[in-house]
Amino acid sequence: MFETLHKATLDKIFVLMAEYAADPRSEKIDLGVGVYKDETGNTPIMSAVRKAEARIHENARTKTYVGVSGNRGFCNAIVDLVLADSVDRSRVRTAQGPGGTGALWILIQLLNRAKPGARVMISDPSWPNHWPMMELAGLTPEHYPYFDPKTRAVDFDAMLATLDTLGPDDIVLLHACCHNPTGANLTEAQWDQVAASLARTGAFPLLDLAYLGFGDGLEADAYAARKLASSVPEMMIAFSGSKNFGLYRERAGCAIAIARDEAGADIVGSQMSNVIRASFSQPPDHGAEIIRVILEDPALRAEWEAELAQMRERMKRLRVKLAEAIRKQSNATDYDFIAEHSGMFSLLGLERDVVERLKTEDGVYMINDSRINVAGIPEDRVDALASHLLAATR
Ligand code: PLP
Repeated sequence: MFETLHKATLDKIFVLMAEYAADPRSEKIDLGVGVYKDETGNTPIMSAVRKAEARIHENARTKTYVGVSGNRGFCNAIVDLVLADSVDRSRVRTAQGPGGTGALWILIQLLNRAKPGARVMISDPSWPNHWPMMELAGLTPEHYPYFDPKTRAVDFDAMLATLDTLGPDDIVLLHACCHNPTGANLTEAQWDQVAASLARTGAFPLLDLAYLGFGDGLEADAYAARKLASSVPEMMIAFSGSKNFGLYRERAGCAIAIARDEAGADIVGSQMSNVIRASFSQPPDHGAEIIRVILEDPALRAEWEAELAQMRERMKRLRVKLAEAIRKQSNATDYDFIAEHSGMFSLLGLERDVVERLKTEDGVYMINDSRINVAGIPEDRVDALASHLLAATR
């Protein structure tokens, strides 16, 4: 059976994680893996999560199945959080997925049923899993221009020019906030233009919302989702609770579909359940239940929002500190973009050999496309990191 197979390559991030773990140097710096880390390098369990978990354990009486579409209270709370009153709820249907990836998987399976083999436009570059996921689902991925490596900002004119050429048979995958890997994002005015373009062309928006609250706050980060929801007749959103609730391994995600009307929404909802039943039957409940408990309890919710704000502010502070340290040492503004980007990542725009040298000579680890996780910037050694970056690019 297995003789027809050849060895598959692992996502480069897992290889980098292993190399970092095996590096004996005490001054090594991990800017690679895409999880939030505190100043001690730990990915913490949020205190609101601990309290919700204690409450769940206290009150739990059964482990019986929850249902094919998962935890309804969780999904409803996520719709409130993401969409607020931007869309009539009779047009919205949801299903819980195992993580944001699972939510995205449900949605793209459904899209491939609706339009087999349809073209999905993906930003260049994008989260490395987007492309293979589309291929595995049977869809046809293609790139639209996004990041300009010279300015380290969004090449919005080129992006919009491509979006304007699309039609009703096309799907557009958009990062709703905190673009991964670049850190470069659209302004609200640019989102308005994207919404107008999609409304005009009829291209179908699929939003990946994996970092709500990591950029400029819960409300600001929901702008794109709400703007599009109020502008186009149909769309989908894949929400992840992995980063903003720190629940990575618990796999809590929510697939949201918005249809033209209630009858259309019922069909889409039934299709989501059908995809789930044939894929993994039911999603895991624990992470979703934690999020439900937090979002439905005003005190826990306030605690979570405050912790999330702390994480966000810390990442912003590290961005500013690194950009300032580089400016001080180089007398140039070349790296100011680090402070202008938002979310957990920035794409530095370095050549592969520079990234390799930083790793082997200085113990500074980043993804080979030069994406850094800003949460990994060591606050007490920003100057050292700045001088490594400058020396490597000189
Ligand atoms: N989408 C993007 C852009 C991501 O960066 C990630 C996680 O790294 C995900 C989706 C999926 O996250 P998860 O499946 O862990 O919830």
